Amino acid sequence: MRRAESRAALELIQEVFVDLFDVADDLYFGEIHLKSDPASGLRAIVAIHDLKLGPAIGGCRFYEYPNSDAALRDALRLARGMSYKAAISNLPHGGGKAVIMRPPDLDDNDRRALFESYGEFVDSLNGNYITCEDVGTCVDDMDAVKSRTDQVLGYNPDAGSSGDPSPFTAFGVRRGIEAAAKFRWDRDDLEGLHIAIQGVGSVGYYLAGELHELGASLTVTDIDESAVQRCVDEFGADTVAPDDIYGVDCDIFAPCALGSAINEETIPALNCEVIAGSANNQLATNQHGVALRERDIVYAPDYAINAGGLINVAQEFRGYDAQTARKKTAAIYDTVLEILERAQRETLPTNLVADRIVEERLYGSALQ
Ligand code: NAD
Repeated sequence: MRRAESRAALELIQEVFVDLFDVADDLYFGEIHLKSDPASGLRAIVAIHDLKLGPAIGGCRFYEYPNSDAALRDALRLARGMSYKAAISNLPHGGGKAVIMRPPDLDDNDRRALFESYGEFVDSLNGNYITCEDVGTCVDDMDAVKSRTDQVLGYNPDAGSSGDPSPFTAFGVRRGIEAAAKFRWDRDDLEGLHIAIQGVGSVGYYLAGELHELGASLTVTDIDESAVQRCVDEFGADTVAPDDIYGVDCDIFAPCALGSAINEETIPALNCEVIAGSANNQLATNQHGVALRERDIVYAPDYAINAGGLINVAQEFRGYDAQTARKKTAAIYDTVLEILERAQRETLPTNLVADRIVEERLYGSALQ
């Protein structure tokens, strides 16, 4: 294994494959499975990054990829991310992800058949990969998968599943925000803090509710005006245009929309002391963690703070109990505080410290 090249390989898969096996080795990949089923139109990839801590859990993305290379790149990037999220959260799970190349013009019957076929594919992986919803898939799709395998979570709540993970994700983000407030201001409450939320869809909306309850004042933005209005009506939030959210003079900025919100253009505009939100891949590159540190902005690493949804489905895997899932999600406070304190001790960016903690757990020492 060529550990030193791990980070370089990750950058590489965003560009082009040189050699699939080299990239897989450099990223410490375990397995990559492909399934083509012409009868149903299924073209799926399941990437299983790591099984050391337990069976891999990860969502199934259903998307019209331009080609199979793009689908494979996505699967590798996302599966590795799931390993890191599970490991930082002390879950007994590895990381995996499925992508299905969405055929154009799919009707409802064809869609069900395609997801049944996908369920058979998942079932053939001997319990090493447990699937659930992700971008482009819904509870009905997981119901179809459930008809062919037990290795699925997040199907219909009427059938005993845990349902929408967003409230758990939001609760975990709130706990991460509380940890950041403790670290930055030595505070045990959020009363009177001003928090700017980018994206008040599922997670952002629930987060706004939690923060409002705790006495924070909110400024929100979204490209969907009805989502913004809901927060104005229910939580008395102030609003700004989407492009103006970065410059809001606030204590905490919570990115809860898309990835790469923290980049070369937005960092100079930021007017906050803490960044803590739910979005995946908040930093456009790892280097932006260095830039935040130079600006003395505390960054709660995304995959640590947004793990509540994963913690919730991992609980479902063991027999669902909402109270236990909530208790485990609350521990995101400890995880985030541990990262922030270690980063301070070691004078390192927080995103790098999170990676190191994971790599020490998975490989015995940090990768280069
Ligand atoms: P969502 O689609 O329900 O909400 C996202 C919101 O962001 C939408 O309301 C959308 O209109 C808004 N938005 C998009 N572009 C925007 C822009 N440029 N400016 C402002 N608003 C914009 O998604 P979600 O489930 O709430 O997830 C939010 C983020 O959290 C995503 O990055 C997701 O990957 C991540 N995440 C979600 C969960 C979960 O449990 N749902 C778990 C972990 C991570």
